[in-house]
Amino acid sequence: MENNNFIHDFINEEIESGKYRADEIHTRFPPEPNGYLHIGHCKALIIDFGTAKKYCGRCNLRMDDTNPAKEDTEFVDAIQEDIHWLGFDWGDRFFYGSDYFEKTYEIAEKLILSGDAYVCELTPDQFREYRGDLTNPAKSPFRDRPVEESLDLFRRMRAGEFPEGKYTLRAKIDLASGNFNMRDPVLYRIRYIDHHRQGKKWCIFPMYDFAHPIQDAIEGITHSLCSLEYEDHRPLYNWVIEHCDVPSTPRQIEFARLNITNTVLSKRYLRQLVETGLVDGWDDPRMPTLCGLRRRGYTPEAIFDFVDRAGVAKAYSVVDIELLEHCIREELNTTAPRRIAVMNPVKLVVDNYPEDKVEYFEVSNNPQNPEAGTRKIPFTKNIVIDADDFAAVPPPKFFRLKPEGEVRLMGAYIVKCGEIEYNADGSVNTIHVTADLESGNGNPVDGRKIKGTIHWLSADYAQKADIMLYDHLFTLENVDDMPEGKTYNDYLNPESAIKLEGCMIEPALADAEPGDRFQFVRNGYYVKDTKNANTFNRIVGLKDSFPKK
Ligand code: ATP
Ligand code: MG
Repeated sequence: MENNNFIHDFINEEIESGKYRADEIHTRFPPEPNGYLHIGHCKALIIDFGTAKKYCGRCNLRMDDTNPAKEDTEFVDAIQEDIHWLGFDWGDRFFYGSDYFEKTYEIAEKLILSGDAYVCELTPDQFREYRGDLTNPAKSPFRDRPVEESLDLFRRMRAGEFPEGKYTLRAKIDLASGNFNMRDPVLYRIRYIDHHRQGKKWCIFPMYDFAHPIQDAIEGITHSLCSLEYEDHRPLYNWVIEHCDVPSTPRQIEFARLNITNTVLSKRYLRQLVETGLVDGWDDPRMPTLCGLRRRGYTPEAIFDFVDRAGVAKAYSVVDIELLEHCIREELNTTAPRRIAVMNPVKLVVDNYPEDKVEYFEVSNNPQNPEAGTRKIPFTKNIVIDADDFAAVPPPKFFRLKPEGEVRLMGAYIVKCGEIEYNADGSVNTIHVTADLESGNGNPVDGRKIKGTIHWLSADYAQKADIMLYDHLFTLENVDDMPEGKTYNDYLNPESAIKLEGCMIEPALADAEPGDRFQFVRNGYYVKDTKNANTFNRIVGLKDSFPKK
């Protein structure tokens, strides 16, 4: 992200005004370890790490593990792995929000002493009832509790003397504020739950809005860059920084979240998909998680290219998933070796070709990139072609194989359709053809026009493989426009993962390593799966096979 965006404009002004030296710019990426990172987080990572890099500053990786529920070391490890995969590095700047619990507690006590916080004992129901509305201020009957009493109760909250929900610590700000976040927000609540790192040490936990600015300030963060839903929380962020005894004054700047059509970028919902088994784990190749995209065959470069083209802006927008597909397709068009796969094989016998003969035809590894060289593929009497490349009753303009028709076997002979053998159910069993044996490499010597070219494999040399055809996770384009009464699950695409068994692949693919990417000619881009043996995942189709609806 070399170009300036509005965040960099702010920072440039501050550098020009002398507030900071460029290399003092200090950002952080604060994931909550309650799920795996998704491509939306990649945007935040690019902004956080990219901004630090641009100014030769620093970026901390901080696990935002203030909320004890649902946090897990599995997620902590996965988050680090995914960030490294993208190529970002935090060096020794790795922190846990929970490491500041003691410090945060001390700061809270000081807030009580300065009269800026008090212990409240409204029940959750009363809390809602007293919340007020735009014309009526909130009511808070415990607001004027004497400082010593609040301090005593707060200490006893920590000591575990009270049940959950009995007391909270609240900031004394403004009960009439038009911003409800400022109506004496809760700073601490009681929770009897084991924390993934602190165990049973704490039974009171700070709220995000209180903990986050304190963590930023302790780490010396200069710019706390976050997504737009925190905009309404900024006044509270600033209030905490101003009223608490903290060592620095970070500034919060918000940017629009990344949203993509036909998918969901919400950890909570992605987690639900995993837990209910609607997808096959966090790294299901349909998931917008970084591990899912990785397994699907996406590269960090294509993801960066996509996020870059989607842009960093302040306004809400939804980016077409086809732009993401376009980015990987464009990259793989130049980098992916071409290989042949026959998805739905049908037998083709070259009647006039000797039974025991093998010939090798040279085909290009990548017509876009001559340096990729060529390879030789064996040709024999028994061939397989894709069932779609033959039509017994061809529609108009069908230039592939049809009764009486001629077609070019890519890189090899021209063949003419002869007798067709059918199965009892009417499906094609075997197509007999006669090859024009003068026409090696697909060119007839008499110069006659052959319109169609189809791919093929020698039935004797091809290998078997499974192919997974992946498609969009949701049929609904904009999941933020959910019709009344519907949920995400109503729009799961039933055809988002189709398994083809018994596909044939060319011999050279037998050596492919998990993670290797190829173009299967005339079809799309595929990656060898990292989990299931002998399986190739469709990354994306060739452009033509994805007409825009
Ligand atoms: P989710 O709703 O998916 O759980 P979150 O914001 O709760 O997202 P966090 O782990 O708290 O997830 O996010 C870490 C950082 O990533 C935050 O600063 C957040 O603003 C940012 N972020 C999360 N989702 C997106 C997104 N779709 N686009 C850009 N930034 C995002
Ligand atoms: Mg969050």
